[in-house]
Amino acid sequence: MTKPIAQSDCFIALGSNLGDRHAHIRAAIDALSTIPGMDMMRVSTIIETEPVGPAGQERYLNGVAHIRTSLGPRDVLSHLLRIEIERGRDRASAPRWGSRTLDLDLLLFGDRVIDEPGLTVPHPRLRERLFVLEPLAEIAPEFSLQPDGKRVWEVLDLLRRGTTGVSVRRTNG
Ligand code: ATP
Ligand code: CA
Ligand code: CA
Repeated sequence: MTKPIAQSDCFIALGSNLGDRHAHIRAAIDALSTIPGMDMMRVSTIIETEPVGPAGQERYLNGVAHIRTSLGPRDVLSHLLRIEIERGRDRASAPRWGSRTLDLDLLLFGDRVIDEPGLTVPHPRLRERLFVLEPLAEIAPEFSLQPDGKRVWEVLDLLRRGTTGVSVRRTNG
């Protein structure tokens, strides 16, 4: 009998506020959908959100994609960074949390907790960001967040009540 390939549910945040935002988000979804070993399960509603990073930015489009994958988290991150560059993402000349054509963050990778140079999962600012938690809660309200096992809907509820116990950093970046 062949051993079944282990699959992980991962969630990716999509963001854009520079250039043709709809085209960048659409291209990211298309690119993610065509990678061997990554199956696109669902994409949230794409919402428009107020920029809350450095002053003078355009509004963002934000959403979350659910992917089931046989790849590892490092391979997924490499694909995300490649797709960002293909859409003209320029990190070198932009300030932190500044405007960007495309931002793809690995929010969750199954129940894995990763804290390595260049990769932290769950995404360290996930619980502070309504523009991530709202679309995530639309498609995966019951998903458990490590390390405490809280559900996505619970974490969103806590943030809305302002009782996360974390300092809220206001940025869509
Ligand atoms: P934020 O992380 O606050 O959302 P940002 O998305 O603007 O900010 P970037 O400049 O896009 O930050 O990413 C900087 C680096 O973060 C990337 O080069 C990547 O190596 C690293 N990184 C660490 N953990 C993750 C993760 N879970 N998803 C995406 N990038 C990550
Ligand atoms: Ca990023
Ligand atoms: Ca980000």
